[in-house]
Amino acid sequence: MNINSITFKLGGIIIVLFLTVFFPLVFTIDQLFTSFYKNQKQEELDHFATKYSASISDVDDKAAYHMFKMSSELINADLFVFNMKGKIIKSTGILGFQEGTQVSDNIFQPISKKQTVGIEYSEKGGDQKFLLSGKPIIIGNEVKGGLVVVSNMDNVNTSIAKVRIWLLVSVIGSLFIAIGFTFFISKKLSSPLLKMERATREIAKGKLKTKLVVPTKDEVGSLAAAIMDLERELEDYRNNRREFFANISHELRTPISYIKGYSKVVKDELYDSEEEKKQYLMIIYDESTRLAELINDLFELAKMEEGKLDLDFEWVDISEVLISSVKKVDLKAKEKGIHIHLSTKTGNPFLFSDGRRLEQIFINLIENAIRYSNQDTKIDIYIAPQKRDIQIFIIDSGIGIPKDDLPFIFERFYRVEKSRSRSTGGTGLGLAIVKNLVELLGGRIEINSVENIGTTFKLCFPIGQKVSEEKE
Ligand code: ADP
Repeated sequence: MNINSITFKLGGIIIVLFLTVFFPLVFTIDQLFTSFYKNQKQEELDHFATKYSASISDVDDKAAYHMFKMSSELINADLFVFNMKGKIIKSTGILGFQEGTQVSDNIFQPISKKQTVGIEYSEKGGDQKFLLSGKPIIIGNEVKGGLVVVSNMDNVNTSIAKVRIWLLVSVIGSLFIAIGFTFFISKKLSSPLLKMERATREIAKGKLKTKLVVPTKDEVGSLAAAIMDLERELEDYRNNRREFFANISHELRTPISYIKGYSKVVKDELYDSEEEKKQYLMIIYDESTRLAELINDLFELAKMEEGKLDLDFEWVDISEVLISSVKKVDLKAKEKGIHIHLSTKTGNPFLFSDGRRLEQIFINLIENAIRYSNQDTKIDIYIAPQKRDIQIFIIDSGIGIPKDDLPFIFERFYRVEKSRSRSTGGTGLGLAIVKNLVELLGGRIEINSVENIGTTFKLCFPIGQKVSEEKE
């Protein structure tokens, strides 16, 4: 199993957390039980010692001693009695406190001062532990000796050991449950992630039909949905790119083959007259101009799509931009006998936009209107300021666009009729550039067209604060 996996990390965290909480808890419980059992034993011995030291009438009271001895057996304890010289005069024979031996100072001293002794001690040279409770034997308000009850701590230790075993069993049990639970949770968490990893790798390899189903509605589910969106985007991008390259090579091949063919004719002097030669040269010139335009348009479009087109935003008087655009295309219009009627009024709101790019948009659309209009027709251009935006209409009464083609008209290289467009001289990128530019400038473009009646382009741009009179 991978040490960097979520299962490991999460498992590690849970177990560390578990141990940090559990160990102090277990330690505290152990201490509580240990002191509880010891206290209980000590109290029992104290009680016994108090009771019998009070009932004794003399340190040599044999009958009383005999009775104590029997009682002490009941509570599994030993006892001994010592006199005021510290000598043990009666003992049940407990190791270290035999009859005739001297009692140690730590017992004798406090008892001789009417104090009580309660201590825990270890057998010399052995590992047995004992609890001891000593009381003075007071007769007529005078200490005559002491009575000491001693109990082996075996019982206490057995009880503590039992508690410890139970504690250990519960710790190990809980640890196993925690490990199992961790494993289960981590698997549940990591399995959709692993699924996503596999799917993403497949997608990266180009398998764009990979399906990823994560039905949860949490963050993991939305990540899976995002991966699927990415896959769709990638597929669209791929299709577009394929189509784009097919179009581009077609568009480039056509003028290049014309240029190549006619320049060969001129080079090999395969023409009959100077007039014919001029004609061929004219074709070469037209096609190379077209090629230059195409390359320029492609370059512009690429920049736009990468978001690298520089825009110079400034306050722009839309009427002025339209007037200058019309001036630039007027010659082309006149050649076809087309009249451009531009109606501009003063008082139009200013646009905070890029004037040069606006002009590029208008020229493109007006040139199209001229290109796809018949001789001696008319083009109407007018501005309609609205509350929030400014609308510009470019209306021609040309050949129009069939309804079925309208949804695709802004796509790169889309042409209603390939041969017709080539003969009229466009690159097929004009409207794609226009749409991109309009959107970069924060506006939108709509088209309305009826075949053989004409086409209307409507442009909307959000207005700025100024109006044209305020210009001075
Ligand atoms: P092109 O360089 O071919 O003009 P565009 O992107 O500018 O490329 O236009 C795409 C297609 O839309 C044109 O080939 C033409 O078929 C159609 N079109 C554009 N403008 C007009 C118009 N004003 N009237 C009729 N058809 C138009």
